[in-house]
Amino acid sequence: MILKSYCAALLVCTFSVGAIAAPETRLVLQITVDQLRGDLPLRHMQQFGKGGFALLKNKGVWYTNATYRHANTETIVGHSSLATGALPAVHGMIGNVWLDRESGKLVYNVEDPRYSLLSDNADVDKASEIDPTQRVANSDGRSPQAILSSTFSDELAIRYPGQSKIYGVSVKDRGAIPLAGDSGKAFWFSKAAGAFVSSTYYYDGHPDWVQKWNSAGKLDRYAGQHWELTNEPDSYQRIDQDDSDWETDFPGYGRTFPHAWGDRDSKYFTTLLTVSPAGDELTLDFAKTLLLEEGLGEDSVPDYLSISFSSTDYVGHLFGSSSLEMEDNLIRLDRTLADLFKFIDQEVGLKHTLIVLSADHGGPEAPGYLQELHQDADYVDDQLFTADALNGLLHEKLDVTADLVKTYFHPYVYLDREAVGRAGLGLAATQRALAEALLQLPDVAYAYTASDITQGLLKDSAIATMVSANHQDKRSGDVYVVFESRAFINDFDGLTVAATHGSVWRYDRHVPIIFLGNGIKAGTVSRAVTPYDIAPTLSNILELEAPSGSDGEPLEEVTQ
Ligand SMILES: [Zn+2]
Repeated sequence: MILKSYCAALLVCTFSVGAIAAPETRLVLQITVDQLRGDLPLRHMQQFGKGGFALLKNKGVWYTNATYRHANTETIVGHSSLATGALPAVHGMIGNVWLDRESGKLVYNVEDPRYSLLSDNADVDKASEIDPTQRVANSDGRSPQAILSSTFSDELAIRYPGQSKIYGVSVKDRGAIPLAGDSGKAFWFSKAAGAFVSSTYYYDGHPDWVQKWNSAGKLDRYAGQHWELTNEPDSYQRIDQDDSDWETDFPGYGRTFPHAWGDRDSKYFTTLLTVSPAGDELTLDFAKTLLLEEGLGEDSVPDYLSISFSSTDYVGHLFGSSSLEMEDNLIRLDRTLADLFKFIDQEVGLKHTLIVLSADHGGPEAPGYLQELHQDADYVDDQLFTADALNGLLHEKLDVTADLVKTYFHPYVYLDREAVGRAGLGLAATQRALAEALLQLPDVAYAYTASDITQGLLKDSAIATMVSANHQDKRSGDVYVVFESRAFINDFDGLTVAATHGSVWRYDRHVPIIFLGNGIKAGTVSRAVTPYDIAPTLSNILELEAPSGSDGEPLEEVTQ
C-alpha cells in the first residue's frame, strides 16, 4: 500500500514489484493437453512420478478453477483462444467446421488450398478414420490464415524479428497451427503419410532434419505391438472397469487391454498409434529433435515452442474420462511430461524456461458410466437434427414447401438464405421459427438466433453470453443449438464414440492452467480465471504487446 501511494504521489512509477526480468527467459514452452479436464491430473496425482505433474504441482502455480467462456468447446476454438487470448467472436475460429457462405461448402478450420501439404508418401486410404472432422476439408493445404487476430507468438516475432525461433508441434494440424501463429512454423502428424508434415505456407520443402526423422523408422517399434498397462494391475483405480459396454469397440483395437496397434502396413496402424500414449511419445520425440536441430533456447533472445499432446483427446473420445484407458494414458502422459522437463532442463535449463500447461477444452463422461451411478444422462438422437428432419419441421411450422435449412453441423444450424429470401419470410423471422421448432425437440435446452445475438437481444444469462462470445457473423450459423447438461453427442461424423465434448457445460469448459518458471512462487489458486488470460500473461512477463484481440488479464500470481 505504501508503495502504491508513493507511486501515485510521484505520478510516475518506473519499477514493477518483483517482475521477472525478460532476458532470463530463453524459451517459452507452451504445452496443451487436448481434452485434459481440470480435475483429471489431480485425480491421479498419487499414481504419478516426481518429474511430471508433481513437479508442476510442487514448483508451479496451479489454477484449479479455470474455465473457458465460449460455448463451442472444440479443439480449434480452444487452441486459438490459447494462442490469441481472444474469444472466438474475435479470433474467428468458431468451430472445427463451419459453412463458408460464399462457396456454399463446409470448410475445415485450418484448411487452405493455396498452401499444399508437404508430403511425399501420403496414402489417402489411411486418412483419419478417428478424426472425422478433417474429412470435411476440401484440400490438404493448411495455414493459419483464417485466424483473425494476432497470437502471442506473432507478438514475439514483432519484438525480435528474425531472431526469435517460433514453432508449433502436435499430432493434430489444428493443435499445431494456431499456436505457431502467422510468423512461426508448424508441424503435425499426417496419419496418411505416417510422418510429421508441414505445408507450403511454412516451407518450400521440409528441412533435412524433418526428412531424416521421418525416414528413421520411429514408428516401427510399435508395429505388431500392443498398448499395455504401464504399472501393476493392482495399482489402478479402475482395474475392474476395463470392459465397459459404453466404450468404443474399434475393429482390431477392442475395448480391453492390451490394445493391438496392428502391423506397420495395416490400414489403421498410424491412426491407432494416436489413440494411445504412443501418439504423445512420437510428438515428444519429434519436438525434442526440433529443439536440438533448430537450436531453441540457445541465446538470450526468447524462443517459443508449443507442443499440443493429442492422445488424451482420442482416448477420451473412445473410452471416456473415467476408463482404465484414460487412467493409464494419464500415467503415460505424466511420464512424457517428466521426460520433456528433464530434456529441457539439460538442453536449455528450467531456470531459463517459462512453462505453461493448459488444455483446449475439458471432456465429458460417457453417459453409460453416469447411468451406472444412477445419474440422468444419455445420448442425443442425432436423427432428429438432420437437415431433412429440420426442414420437415419448418415446412409444417411455416406452411412452406421449400427446404429452408441448408445444413446442421454442431453446434450451428445454417439456413439456405437464398431460399429464405425467395420464400419472402424474412431472415430473422425464419431463424426464430427454426429456434422455436428446435426447442420442441428432446434434449434441446436453448436455441439462439444469429439475429438476436447480433442485435444484442439475448437475455442476459451465462449461457447466452457464451453463445454470443462464440459468434462471428460470417462463419457462425443462423441458430446455435445448446443441448441439456449430460445430453451427449456420440456421433462423430459417422463414427460412434463413447462421448464427444463441445458443450457449454462445465465439464467441457474446465481446464487446468499451470505456470512454472524462474521467479514464479509455487501455489494453488482457486479463484476463477480463464485460458484467455494465458497469452496476456506471457506477453506481460516478456514485456511484449499482448495479442491484438486479447481479452484476458495477466495473472498476478505469475506476473508479480
Ligand atoms: Zn476431441
